[in-house]
Amino acid sequence: MKNSLGKVYRIKPRQPKVAVIGAGPAGLSAAYMLSKRGVPVEVFEAGTQPGGLAKSISLWNQTVDLGPHRFFSKDERVNRLWFEVVGSDFTVINRMTRIHYENKLFDYPLKPFDALAKLGLVEAVHCGLSYLKSKCSAPCDPATFEDWVVQHFGNRLYEMFFRTYSEKLWGISCQELDADFAAQRIRQLSLYEAVKNGLLKSNTRQHKTLVDEFAYPKLGAGMVYERMAQRIVQNGGFVHYGTQVEKVFTENGVATGIVLRDGALRKYDHIISSMPLPVLVARLPESPPHVKYLTQFLRFRNTILVYLQVDSPNLFPDNWLYVHSPEVRVGRITNFRNWSSDLYGAERSSILALEYWCNDEDALWREGEPQIVELAGKELRSSGLVGNAKILNGHVHRIPRCYPVYSTGYRKVLGPIQDYLGSIRGLQAIGRYGAFKYNNQDHSILMGILAAENVQEQASHNLWEVNTDYDSYQEDEAVVLR
Ligand SMILES: Cc1cc2nc3c(=O)[nH]c(=O)nc-3n(C[C@H](O)[C@H](O)[C@H](O)COP(=O)(O)OP(=O)(O)OC[C@H]3O[C@@H](n4cnc5c(N)ncnc54)[C@H](O)[C@@H]3O)c2cc1C
Repeated sequence: MKNSLGKVYRIKPRQPKVAVIGAGPAGLSAAYMLSKRGVPVEVFEAGTQPGGLAKSISLWNQTVDLGPHRFFSKDERVNRLWFEVVGSDFTVINRMTRIHYENKLFDYPLKPFDALAKLGLVEAVHCGLSYLKSKCSAPCDPATFEDWVVQHFGNRLYEMFFRTYSEKLWGISCQELDADFAAQRIRQLSLYEAVKNGLLKSNTRQHKTLVDEFAYPKLGAGMVYERMAQRIVQNGGFVHYGTQVEKVFTENGVATGIVLRDGALRKYDHIISSMPLPVLVARLPESPPHVKYLTQFLRFRNTILVYLQVDSPNLFPDNWLYVHSPEVRVGRITNFRNWSSDLYGAERSSILALEYWCNDEDALWREGEPQIVELAGKELRSSGLVGNAKILNGHVHRIPRCYPVYSTGYRKVLGPIQDYLGSIRGLQAIGRYGAFKYNNQDHSILMGILAAENVQEQASHNLWEVNTDYDSYQEDEAVVLR
């Protein structure tokens, strides 16, 4: 058997044949690890290029990602794989991110002295009192996002710096959002610890942390996955683009193949799936009705990315800004000019990506491209971030079901689905959409690595446990690039 590079693909005796669904970070990492070890692997990707949500695209003679894509991991296996693929083609970025609120820019992660200085003395005292009040009446084990943040920062800071942004992102009240989301994405700090750290750090040379800098592929986040796909083929594997998998086929509790759009059934010994979890479960021929029924309660949030080309090379220094201001709908703005110079080359304009979040039924999701570009242009202008610089072009990129929503009680819904999928031999569900996990690239890469080890080394990694160790997933360690 020959692949597209003409490489002869010798199937070693007793090597399992593996199909991987999806050429995003999760699927490609699994396929790359397997192909390196000579396991026959084929990747099936519905889209036309590798990278999934972490792909890079060309726009107005420049390269952009789908929103900001900062790679960060404390896991040695993930870093080893990433640097093996990227080699020396990365740049170290001094991270700069701030919060846009009431026409002021606050440091992010929130720094108590910066925030309190910009809020003024009276507001600072209110924040302090509100924090003390929350400490006196804090519930022991917060169940919701709101409880968690109020317990750690007090109600006043929660209202200013957490509520609006989170409600824009998730489209539900913070009382309906599970505390898991806060524990995963907000540093394990309380206001007291943050103030204490601020005082201590002002007396010592500040340790460079992952908050301060990160490694970024010179040609965009997608470069990593383009290279992985190429190497899979060099290693004798296959990556089929424009090839949507309709369903995974099972017989007597064993996954035996996949069915493509044209109805063709292809037989494999193992299937690693990063296709949407609800679709996978709904189409498995042997799924019990109660498991199928539960998938409708897994909720996702859509993203609309509006790219605006602005006629200036110098707008603001941030990699991205969080927009907490409630008077605009935009939630985050990325400035690709501040990532890698290879993204823009000789071009003089800056490309910004404005992120809007919505559900299928929201009017904005169904709005035409010119109207969305106009809204984004108006909001950008009103933010004061671009002064009088001319907006030259606009482009809309819609991402359906981009964020798995950790609404309260989601684990009770997910549990039986995980149990059922875990009972099917030869099938592994991985990835952000594929496993209903609010993954960053590193989590999806790790799921891919572990899924490959489960196949090749008969390891028994529990993939559902990836991205649940929130305490150690914090950004306070020194950067270890190699
Ligand atoms: C706006 C935004 C900002 C982000 N910022 C960061 C960041 O700063 N840092 C970070 O690390 N991560 C970030 N992420 C997250 C990162 O993009 C994801 O964690 C990562 O891409 C998930 O990889 P995955 O392989 O699990 O899923 P995906 O990237 O979703 O890949 C799944 C792939 O499967 C394919 N597929 C689906 N169904 C089928 C089917 N039936 N048949 C064949 N193929 C199929 C899809 O086309 C897709 O290519 C961000 C994401 C977004 C949207």
